[in-house]
Amino acid sequence: MARVRTAMAAADVDVLLLSVGPDLPWLIGYEAMPLERLTMLVVPADAEASLVIPAFEVPRVVVRDELFTVRAWGETEDPVDIVAQLVGSASRAAIGDHTWSRFLVGLQRRLSSAAWVAAGEVTSPLRAVKDEAEIARLQAAASGVDRVAAALQSGEIPLVGRTEADVSAELSQRILAEGHAKVNFAIVASGANAASPHHHASDKVIGPGEVVLCDFGGTTAEPEGEPGYCSDITRCVYTGEPPAEFVEAYAALQDAQARSVAAAEAGTPAEAVDRVARDRLAEAGLATWFIHRLGHGIGVEAHEDPYLVDGNAEPLVAGNAFSIEPGFYVPDTWGARIEDIVIATAQGPVALNEVDHDLAVVDR
Ligand code: ZN
Ligand code: ZN
Ligand code: ZN
Repeated sequence: MARVRTAMAAADVDVLLLSVGPDLPWLIGYEAMPLERLTMLVVPADAEASLVIPAFEVPRVVVRDELFTVRAWGETEDPVDIVAQLVGSASRAAIGDHTWSRFLVGLQRRLSSAAWVAAGEVTSPLRAVKDEAEIARLQAAASGVDRVAAALQSGEIPLVGRTEADVSAELSQRILAEGHAKVNFAIVASGANAASPHHHASDKVIGPGEVVLCDFGGTTAEPEGEPGYCSDITRCVYTGEPPAEFVEAYAALQDAQARSVAAAEAGTPAEAVDRVARDRLAEAGLATWFIHRLGHGIGVEAHEDPYLVDGNAEPLVAGNAFSIEPGFYVPDTWGARIEDIVIATAQGPVALNEVDHDLAVVDR
């Protein structure tokens, strides 16, 4: 909260308003219900913060008197009026990026002289730099999905003859069993479906002789009042002996991924890390098929700052946590991606995912 207030002063923000979305649990450990009943933390630059919340949600709040007071509202009150009164005469307000527009529009009507900015301008740079406790949660999340990936690679999770959706459901169960409170996605893309980076697991039955790309992650389960952190991993397995052409392309991808992990040093511009993978894939004639950015930051949100993409010249800083996930996607043919979560530290990049990066060959 102290760092948020400092950032508010630097950005000339008089009040910060946080509702649904990851900023609120990151800051006070409470996740707002995405409902028509408004929950909003009001943080004035020069006064105590207030959590405006439906009265019957109060039992879920872990009270932290040093951070905020609770302003419960009853069913016949108008919470937008309550927030507007707390905001008072603020001339510049920052509002949470995920806030429903009906609430923003209501506040704009009542606070017609205020200028509005996205809260991400205040919170994103802070959220992008993880402290030790946050890194420990990201590590626990990564280790959990590593164990699920190991079960895929060893053949413990059968693939041939099952639908992608069925395998996706099993991955989801295993993610939950590995210390996650929720599953954010469990992509299973087999054969030509692997050419679509965000393919939705379908009713297609996985056959022998196919690549199976699995990209999955969730949010860790934490004690009440503490935010969960995200995992995100991609590994590929082949059902039977892969053709030489695929083995060759995969080897280039694996090398590109390892090189870009090694390049992700604090002080290196984010786009330069993306470039390392792209140049290596170009050598193998695969650059045309690498159709997305190299990676995204990760924390309480699955995708957040910093983004490893051409055009982002911001240098990485120690404490940044991000994915490194190059891929190639050949339409109607196949695709592959390898993804780890990496932390930039003063001692160099540290990959949190340690499970094998080789193309696993399974026989069932
Ligand atoms: Zn993705
Ligand atoms: Zn992923
Ligand atoms: Zn990712």
